[in-house]
Amino acid sequence: MKSLDYKGEERGIEVLKENEWDTSSTCSRCGDDTKSNHVERGLYVCSSCELVANVDCNGAENMCQKITPSPHSEDRSNGCVAQTSTYMFNRESGAFHTREQVVS
Ligand SMILES: [Zn+2]
Repeated sequence: MKSLDYKGEERGIEVLKENEWDTSSTCSRCGDDTKSNHVERGLYVCSSCELVANVDCNGAENMCQKITPSPHSEDRSNGCVAQTSTYMFNRESGAFHTREQVVS
């Protein structure tokens, strides 16, 4: 974690630490935390809203929401916390959408 602190400082970004425990089973879109939400080969599939996301991106999004809570679909940047840059996974293409592609 030392290198993260250093990298953040270098770019003027505050590094906040959040425990990743229990972030992988909760849906970052609707908050559903059904343990049976499908996780296979790195994919998170929500049984409630059918979100399909990379497991780690879904977990990172959950952490981001814990640290900077605000309504969905708004720009949550407060100017000092790095945002998750990639968080949607396209089931058909098998590729990630960048933030730019997600906001359409
Ligand atoms: Zn969901």
